[in-house]
Amino acid sequence: IAFDGFVNAPDADYSQDRERTAAEKAIQSVLHQFGKTYFPVINGESIPTASFVESLNPSNFKQVVGKIGLASIPQADLAVTAAKQAFPAWKKLSPKSRGDILRKAADLMEAQRAELTAWIVWEVGKPLREADAEVSEAIDFCRYYAKEMERISQPHQRNVPGEDNTYIYQPRGVVVVISPWNFPFAIALGMSVAALAAGNTVILKPAEQSSVVGAKIAEVLQASGMPKGVFNYLPGIGSEVGAHLVKHPNVHLIAFTGSQQVGCQIYADAAILRPGQKHMKRVIAEMGGKNTIVIDESSDLDQAVVGVMNSAFGYAGQKCSACSRVVVLSPVYDNFLHRLVEATRSLVVNEAHLPNTKLGPVIDADAQAKIRSYIAKGHETAKVALEMPVPEHGYYVSPTILSEVEPESAIAQEEIFGPVLAVIRAESFEQALAIANNTPYALTGGLYSRTPSHIDRAYREFEVGNLYVNRGITGALVDRQPFGGFKLSGIGSKAGGPDYLLQFLEPRVITENT
Ligand code: GLU
Repeated sequence: IAFDGFVNAPDADYSQDRERTAAEKAIQSVLHQFGKTYFPVINGESIPTASFVESLNPSNFKQVVGKIGLASIPQADLAVTAAKQAFPAWKKLSPKSRGDILRKAADLMEAQRAELTAWIVWEVGKPLREADAEVSEAIDFCRYYAKEMERISQPHQRNVPGEDNTYIYQPRGVVVVISPWNFPFAIALGMSVAALAAGNTVILKPAEQSSVVGAKIAEVLQASGMPKGVFNYLPGIGSEVGAHLVKHPNVHLIAFTGSQQVGCQIYADAAILRPGQKHMKRVIAEMGGKNTIVIDESSDLDQAVVGVMNSAFGYAGQKCSACSRVVVLSPVYDNFLHRLVEATRSLVVNEAHLPNTKLGPVIDADAQAKIRSYIAKGHETAKVALEMPVPEHGYYVSPTILSEVEPESAIAQEEIFGPVLAVIRAESFEQALAIANNTPYALTGGLYSRTPSHIDRAYREFEVGNLYVNRGITGALVDRQPFGGFKLSGIGSKAGGPDYLLQFLEPRVITENT
């Protein structure tokens, strides 16, 4: 394999004393910084706001991680003006110069890894190792997109005698990034730096629940030497400020990751031409999933139990990529279920910052109530194979395994976004694949099998954007597993892959008669 200059950043190695101590220190030092106020940053300036929201620690909701100043509509307009004014100079910089700023940001993140990880742990209740992996992914996005832009910007020449043809790409303009709380660092930063590497200017509207981590992104990018107005941080209420930005005539592109409902609304709103608008807007949307792992009778159950458990209960199931259904062939169903239940029972559910925690809380009270209502439905329509007691001082939900779930039931069809796994029985591989494909989503999927014909069939017929064979289905790495789905999971673009930046660019051809 030819080496093209990109390598994935390694995660922290907590088997090393030094790295473990750094992590523990950072957890404490961030705890001592709780309660500060974070304001929007527009054109390099922190802007006071009239209203605020508190960001709570989901592991212990008595603790206020930070206070967020919520941007108003006029302030959103100000951010668009700043981004628009900063665009011509940023566009003019060479891809190498823009890339150097992003590489500098990556180096800063590497130096501040423990502290950034700690902010993620505290603000969104993500256990330490998983939060650390997010910092690695963010570093990767910076370096990968910087490199990719240099590759893409090589002009294609198609010259014939008497005629020179040059095919080039130019940036689109002002990009609004609307990012989710579940990967508050990696996804918010990834979408932003893709836009920036390509020469666009950015307004980041982070999820309300993770705006302190959003402020940390703004700090890193500012420290990396990003010129004023090129990146603007605009915390606010999604349905107000987010919706306003989507409709703004001077916005060219919206990069969104979040729920299907909001994604569809953005798609619709962005399609309407507004007074003064001289371009069509582009929308990049990564939405939900209802992801399935199929376990056939030839699979290695030791591997399958661990892979399913990690994919279903990692970050309490709050990943678009999470496994929420496992379809098991009848001959191994009882054995698999028994082993899965016993393995899951051993997971420690507790505050995210504690080193032995495997499962933290869910993000907030609304999420907790919604997930619990699905579990109640499960009690009525399926068998409860596992539920266990959980702490009560945070938004905890028990890891829950429901068995004998009907493939068409709500539990098996709707995205729950929590630690709830539906186990479904199938009589044949054919039927298992049909069940796996019977949702409106197509994001991730997995197969555990040692039967080559089954693996071969899954390659061709398992309708997902990211298919994993004999491993878990979460944790896509930049460049190695470009990530994204189709059907109602998204528009099919792959973050961290070779096509992603093209969406942030417009191609042009110049023909010269020579
Ligand atoms: N890229 C992440 C993964 O592979 C999932 C991102 C998401 O949940 O939106 O697990």
